[in-house]
Amino acid sequence: MTVSTVTDPALKRRAFLGMTAAGTAAVVLPFQRHGGGRNRGGVGVSSAAPTPADWTALAHDLSGTLVRPGDSYYTVARRLFDPRFDSISPAGIAYCKNPHDIATCLAFVRKFSLKVAARCGGHSYAGYSTTTGLVIDVTSMAGTTVSGATVTVGAGTRLIDFYHDLAAHGRAVPGGSCPTVGISGLTLGGGIGVVSRAYGLTSDKLESLQIVTADGALLTCNATDHSDLYWACRGGGGGNFGVVTSFTFASEPAPTPVLFFLGWPWSQAAKVIAAWQSWAPTAPDAMWSNLHLSAVPGASVPTIQVGGCYLGSITGAANLLNELYAKVGSHPSSYFLNQFSYLNAMLLEAGCSTIGYTGCHLPWEFPGGRLNRQPQYAKSDFFTQPLSSAGITTLMHGVENLLKVSGASGGVGGVAFDALGGAVNRVAPTATAFVHRNALFDAQYTTDWNYGANSDAVARQAAWLSAFWTSMRPYASGQAYQNYIDPTLPNWQQAYYGVNYTRLTQVKKTYDPTRVFDFAQAIPPA
Ligand SMILES: Cc1cc2nc3c(=O)[nH]c(=O)nc-3n(C[C@H](O)[C@H](O)[C@H](O)COP(=O)(O)OP(=O)(O)OC[C@H]3O[C@@H](n4cnc5c(N)ncnc54)[C@H](O)[C@@H]3O)c2cc1C
Repeated sequence: MTVSTVTDPALKRRAFLGMTAAGTAAVVLPFQRHGGGRNRGGVGVSSAAPTPADWTALAHDLSGTLVRPGDSYYTVARRLFDPRFDSISPAGIAYCKNPHDIATCLAFVRKFSLKVAARCGGHSYAGYSTTTGLVIDVTSMAGTTVSGATVTVGAGTRLIDFYHDLAAHGRAVPGGSCPTVGISGLTLGGGIGVVSRAYGLTSDKLESLQIVTADGALLTCNATDHSDLYWACRGGGGGNFGVVTSFTFASEPAPTPVLFFLGWPWSQAAKVIAAWQSWAPTAPDAMWSNLHLSAVPGASVPTIQVGGCYLGSITGAANLLNELYAKVGSHPSSYFLNQFSYLNAMLLEAGCSTIGYTGCHLPWEFPGGRLNRQPQYAKSDFFTQPLSSAGITTLMHGVENLLKVSGASGGVGGVAFDALGGAVNRVAPTATAFVHRNALFDAQYTTDWNYGANSDAVARQAAWLSAFWTSMRPYASGQAYQNYIDPTLPNWQQAYYGVNYTRLTQVKKTYDPTRVFDFAQAIPPA
């Protein structure tokens, strides 16, 4: 088995991911003075909009900074990761430094019946972390502390910083690949990543969290205290139950992963798909892989790639890959396999192997950051059965159809399947709010374009995405990943939460009965 090095084999993955270049008692905080919720009638509730003087008073009450329209930093402060949401203008963005700041903001939104959204990494595919009301940004509450195998992380930490800090202590927590995704959104919706078959979801490792609920109370939630909220915060989705301030995880010793990227000609795609789906979900837990089919509008042929991460030796990975090649009936035409430190593996998976840790940030979030924002539409599925030959044909036609689309500048699209099984599926569907425990693999369908591209061309790519996803209905399970939140998804309640939905509405009723935290796909109170 030859081992080759290439500049950055994860560049394609980065493009696909949308990256271009203790106590238990409720602590009643002193400003729980307004009462009420979103009828939000109650003591101190004002029917009038906040005046400039009210906003000034709010800013005065915060340890962190409040950014308002007209402030020089406002155009940056209102950004999410996807520029599609730049049209939404928050009345204020509060960079909260502590739970007290968050409770102050919640008292303010209750008093004036304002809309509110929590924001961490800003990667919500539906823009649910911004609002025309008050954005509660938690990124000032970042940083990781490690005590033995226990890791506590501030709710505003971005994934690449989390991995950087974990690696310095020789520890690992399973999580996603995108470096600028926030630990909050990721964990609250599950968290699927390259070591999930070995270690589980990010939320599966969550032992405890601290959260400020709609009434301003700071709660510690774990298996014994507020256990219903603890259950809901492991897969129930961000933005529903309160604003998390910190997470405490069980960690694993940092591995030295073997990463691989393999390509075949499109003429072999049907064989590769059939082989991958009979190999990846049943491989040993140490082997995780994904299958990525992509196309560029106007190009002549799509591409197909298998990528992966193995927790073991290079020889062990090569032996397992030989089993895949035997199923395909051919060796890959392009091949990369090598072993990395944990941090370097996560940098490579993030598409940052050439720009390093410092570069692996957005420039306004971290000095020296070299990443850009990326517009993208996405939809998702879980598959509990292997694709039939008709399903494989439909899948390939779906990708090939993008070649015929008159796409936008920088247009690209495709689908990526992540192998599941292993530790993810050893947890019962009702043990946490993350219900998707019987899938062989998930799928994320995406299409990207350059910021500012022609809107008609973008609409054609969006129509392609929708038609592709629709064509796969006969083969998918009907469930969808709540972290690939999809504002166009019908029956999202069942798709994201299945049998756990009713219990989630009961938790919502307990902790946010008047829907202070609300958005189009928010869980309603029972
Ligand atoms: C490019 C890209 C790559 C991705 N890669 C992966 C991947 O590899 N694996 C994976 O599992 N997922 C992945 N995702 C999906 C990602 O996990 C979700 O989009 C996640 O919700 C993003 O979290 P965030 O904190 O960055 O986003 P945000 O938009 O800040 O938040 C998402 C939701 O959580 C809420 N929220 C934010 N902070 C808090 C808080 N402190 N308390 C309570 N609620 C809060 C927000 O209000 C919003 O509803 C990816 C997404 C993108 C755009």
